[in-house]
Amino acid sequence: MESVYLRQEEEKRKHTQRYKEMLKTRAALPVAGLKNDILQLLKENNVLVVCGETGSGKTTQVPQFILDDMIESGHGGHCSIICTQPRRIAAISVAERVADERCEPSPGSIGSLVGYQVRLDNARNEKTKLLFCTTGILLRKLAGDKNLTGVTHIIVDEVHERSLLGDFLLIVLKNLIEKQSVSNTPKLKVILMSATVDSDLFSRYFGLCPVITAQGRTHPVTTCFLEDICERISYHLASDSPASLRCETSTRDMRGPVNNRRGKKNLVLSAWGDDSLLSEEYVNPHYDSSSYQSYSEQTQQNLKRLNEDVIDYDLLEDLVCHVDETCDKGAILIFLPGVVEIHTLLDRLAASYRFAGPSSDWLLPLHSSIAADEQKKVFLNPPDGIRKVIIATNIAETSITIDDVVYVIDCGKHKENRYNPQKKLSSMVEDWISRANAKQRRGRAGRVKPGICFCLYTRHRFEKLMRPYQVPEMLRMPLVELCLQIKLLSLGQIKPFLSKALEPPKEEAMNSAISLLYEVGAVEGDEELTPLGHHLAKLPVDVLIGKMLLYGGIFGCLSPILSISACLSYKSPFLYPKDEKQNVERAKLALLSEKLDESSDLNDAERQSDHLLMMAAYRKWERIFREKGVKAAQRFCKMYFLSSSVMSMIRDMRIQFGTLLADIGFINLPKNYQSGGKRKENLDGWFSDYSQPFNRHSHHSAVVKAILCAGLYPNVAATELGITGVALSRLKLNPATKGHPFWYDGRREVHIHPSSINSSLKSFQHPFLVFLEKVETNKVFLRDTTIISPFSILLFGGLINIQHQSGLVAIDGWLKLTAPAQTAVLCKELRSALHSILKEL
Ligand code: ADP
Ligand code: MG
Repeated sequence: MESVYLRQEEEKRKHTQRYKEMLKTRAALPVAGLKNDILQLLKENNVLVVCGETGSGKTTQVPQFILDDMIESGHGGHCSIICTQPRRIAAISVAERVADERCEPSPGSIGSLVGYQVRLDNARNEKTKLLFCTTGILLRKLAGDKNLTGVTHIIVDEVHERSLLGDFLLIVLKNLIEKQSVSNTPKLKVILMSATVDSDLFSRYFGLCPVITAQGRTHPVTTCFLEDICERISYHLASDSPASLRCETSTRDMRGPVNNRRGKKNLVLSAWGDDSLLSEEYVNPHYDSSSYQSYSEQTQQNLKRLNEDVIDYDLLEDLVCHVDETCDKGAILIFLPGVVEIHTLLDRLAASYRFAGPSSDWLLPLHSSIAADEQKKVFLNPPDGIRKVIIATNIAETSITIDDVVYVIDCGKHKENRYNPQKKLSSMVEDWISRANAKQRRGRAGRVKPGICFCLYTRHRFEKLMRPYQVPEMLRMPLVELCLQIKLLSLGQIKPFLSKALEPPKEEAMNSAISLLYEVGAVEGDEELTPLGHHLAKLPVDVLIGKMLLYGGIFGCLSPILSISACLSYKSPFLYPKDEKQNVERAKLALLSEKLDESSDLNDAERQSDHLLMMAAYRKWERIFREKGVKAAQRFCKMYFLSSSVMSMIRDMRIQFGTLLADIGFINLPKNYQSGGKRKENLDGWFSDYSQPFNRHSHHSAVVKAILCAGLYPNVAATELGITGVALSRLKLNPATKGHPFWYDGRREVHIHPSSINSSLKSFQHPFLVFLEKVETNKVFLRDTTIISPFSILLFGGLINIQHQSGLVAIDGWLKLTAPAQTAVLCKELRSALHSILKEL
């Protein structure tokens, strides 16, 4: 019935004027000519790779080919197509575009066949036939139903990006395909879509499945490397006003606020051209004189001095204005590494006279935290005489295609997720892009007519220093969270599973991830997922932080744990101005000793914690901010040596972490809360409300410490010698310790960092301290530490998950219990109690 109805509806729509117009545009895309071939190949094969330049229509068209074919052939009723996108912003924007192209109501509304689903936001209903979602969402579906019952097609977009989850999904799909070839279940079809060259890699991975390639119809793009830019801008200047070139001041510092564009530009260039600067200014170590002999003397000098590693906003601003002034119509697309850089440039451009007035409305940022509505503007046409300038992260590299771009300015950098083994945390690091990325960015300029790409790096860097491709995430990221997913999806033993990857990770990387999972208590026995592991797998954060958050929710300590987790994931808000060490210390102690709440119960022993200090600082700041406003909060920060901007960031992260917990049902958000909206700040006020049930134990620092211990275990150092310390700590205390204690980590001495509130202590109230990370500067340091009692370790640390006897004997000795067996029984009971709490949730 449904199939017949769908076919009739489709026929009706096809006769509307708008549909016909859209069809014309769609028919002009390079993939349009491949429609029949793609459908035919899909009939004959279970897996197909579709390859084509960005903008050739893969993402928007291929899913529609399949949908239309299913409807026309009368199978619309049971058609279910899922198309995964690496980024949420792309999933939403593509779904909206596709619904628009089909003249359907917006995604998810009644009658629309198109929908999307991303974390915290979805627009779909039971009638949705074509769903755009993030890779993470599809993996969650797989957790619910391993065989993806009812799904007819999976389209994995942007496979060339080689993201951790993308590569992971490919293993899962490969297994599924292998399984279905021996069973008689209805066949799931898999389509991989890739932008760049290495399509054979994917074809080989799926048993030499066919590859179909759309020939791009892009226009030629002229590339201007840094050296050409130097020539170009000075040429333009010289012809503009040759005289002005000679009467300039010479140092960069003297540029000052110059309102006149021409004057300013002259000054910038003169700064490059002045020989007196050579001695003290940066001299580019990558400068290769032989490559630039054909360039003007001035350009050669400029190149020697330009530090490519730093983003030169002056140069960028000049270049944008130069293009705007001298080049034909067409949008400018600028690639910068991150949100901060985007807004810095945006503010500068908005302040310059060229983009003042209505022009400034068309300076558009584009990155993943832009709201969907704002984002739509990048596709619109500006009024005549106004230039559209889009300043984007690498999101505009492949996922989002903007047609009217004619000029690309590429700073050559991006932020990449990398694992820092020292910090045991992954973080975003800025680095040079690969040659493949650079080509991709360049290609964005030739969509409608011949374009120009301005690279803010030299040809030498492009040809000789850039990597050909990016290293796949699976080879450079920690695997802990991925291993948890394998367990959550019941995909078997971790190592054999990961060894089936396109490019499997190193053995030692897998081993260290697995052993951490045991230590944290996420798996036990023969890699079996524990109830704790089950919840952790659903939290997209570092496992240690995740465990802390879960326990914070369970034990009614949400607010303190949100603050501490945020500080640990981002950074401590404390500043250390030179020569103020004693004042900083005094401020810290004052913060800890002030009674924040009537029932606050900090005594001296409990003050020995940098983590409780973070909690106290935030609590105080939040209250002042809420009751007295921004200014008062800033004064408070000044008085206590805190960074206002870090505090605001911590507030945002608290909201993020809190909503994650709500997502998996550990706390309930107020009914009318919307993510991303104006209520955001109120939400933090709500998390901070100690009368809420999830904060019922937030006053008790002992409980907070116990949860810290749960999260940070196995990062424990003993503060006294003795069997307990030896058995339970990772770091071995130096036996000859007199004065300040220090430890060995197997190779080197480890000290408490001087910035820690515990750094001046010679003896400790309790025998253990926990920490998140070791940092290495001139020595190896434990940065933030908390002193804890053995009971915390017994109850919340890894001991209840430690199977081997020595740990039990050790703790037994400390507690002076009569027999080790008794401790074992106690531990077992505790563990099962905790397990059943977690199971209930
Ligand atoms: P590919 O996936 O091959 O990179 P897409 O299917 O994303 O290509 O894009 C094909 C074309 O569709 C683009 O060149 C652009 O013209 C158009 N397009 C895509 N999304 C939008 C949108 N949101 N608004 C307007 N045009 C769009
Ligand atoms: Mg695409």
